Amino acid sequence: MARVYNFSAGPAMLPEPVLAQARDEMLDWHGSGMCVAEMSHRGKEFMSIAAQAEADLRELMSIPDNYKVLFLQGGASSQFTAIPMNLLQGAESADYISTGSWSKKAIAEARRYCAVHVAATTEDTKFTRAPAQGELDLSADAAYVHYTSNETIQGVEFSYIPETNGKPLVADMSSTILSRPIDVSRYGLIYAGAQKNIGPAGLTIVILRDDLMGQPMNGTPTMFDYKVQADNDSMYNTPPTYAWYLAGLVFQWLKGNGGLAAMAEINARKAKRLYDCIDASSFYQNPVDPVSRSWMNVPFTLANADLDETFLKEAKAVGLTTLKGHRSVGGMRASIYNAMPESGVEALVSFMQEFERKNG
Ligand code: PMP
Repeated sequence: MARVYNFSAGPAMLPEPVLAQARDEMLDWHGSGMCVAEMSHRGKEFMSIAAQAEADLRELMSIPDNYKVLFLQGGASSQFTAIPMNLLQGAESADYISTGSWSKKAIAEARRYCAVHVAATTEDTKFTRAPAQGELDLSADAAYVHYTSNETIQGVEFSYIPETNGKPLVADMSSTILSRPIDVSRYGLIYAGAQKNIGPAGLTIVILRDDLMGQPMNGTPTMFDYKVQADNDSMYNTPPTYAWYLAGLVFQWLKGNGGLAAMAEINARKAKRLYDCIDASSFYQNPVDPVSRSWMNVPFTLANADLDETFLKEAKAVGLTTLKGHRSVGGMRASIYNAMPESGVEALVSFMQEFERKNG
């Protein structure tokens, strides 16, 4: 059996030791005689798995005590809805920063519930950079400020945390959470679908400050009410137990590998290796402003798009898969989350150099 280097944007690679541990525990978790997927979410075995996962995530991200951590379903897309429903708290507008496909989706959904003031957009330059702090036009009556700290499709990442003059800052961190240490106390709410840097699809993490719960707008579905979820330890209904367990194994793997500071060093190195390869060549191109380049998603084009299919086919033949760019931007995209080993980036760079030599 040969495992491939899978550059998918998500669902994405999981650390091999995590998969091996899940395999070893599949039929009998710690002498329980059961697979985790077969356990009652209210039983003591699963409760211990859930609590450990939360404790490990809190430790990894240094989450302050006045923040709740929710393990939900519905993907990051459901949070596009839940955020205005919970955070408007009687206000009629919110500020959104528009930096790419995912912030546009968040904005479109928020517009169903409030007036969205676009505090900055980089659409005029085809979303190839994050706006600087000085470009943010924040409004006085906004309930919160939302941004997408890493745009998975465009490969644009904020290199700073926006300053919001005391307004709660809300971040879609789906494709960058756990890639480096961040100061959680600067945020009102952080959310992420799990399927990139946390675990399998089906689990959505929300980290939110205590005071942002408890005043949902009229008509908020119970399942979308953060206070209900927090009061029930994310078990108002049956949670995604197996995904929660696997996420917990990923958190333990991260801790065993030096935590987020160590991840940041490795991720910076991986990204630099790939961007250096692209920049050193006139055959490959990445359009993103160097200060806004994502560590996690690296889109690039070939000088001759007619070669795209050959590139993908030959890459696949040597075990480098899922490099096709998003249909909206074309070209290629290499997603290099925590679980992508440095050897995978090394293999990709070698392949790219060889491909250029043959076709450039
Ligand atoms: N936000 C970002 C930044 C994403 O990358 C994605 C998924 N690619 C989403 C939101 C949507 O996530 P989900 O599929 O979990 O709803």
